[in-house]
Amino acid sequence: MARRPGAPLNIARYCGNAETKEIHDLDNEQAPCQIDEIILSGHAVPFNDLDEARRAGYNKIHYCMHGSDQ
Ligand SMILES: [Zn+2]
Repeated sequence: MARRPGAPLNIARYCGNAETKEIHDLDNEQAPCQIDEIILSGHAVPFNDLDEARRAGYNKIHYCMHGSDQ
């Protein structure tokens, strides 16, 4: 489990879920994040900057974010 190369994430650190507005930290990914499910469903949005994600409305911080440098 790590950053995903290729579309749509292109090794971005954060993965937003356009459906739920949750944001995940791929450097601290946990099994319940289900990043691959988000990608398959077409809801994955890449972010490299957490502030940018928040400005885009992704303000539901998934628990994988705890302990990371926010
Ligand atoms: Zn997560």
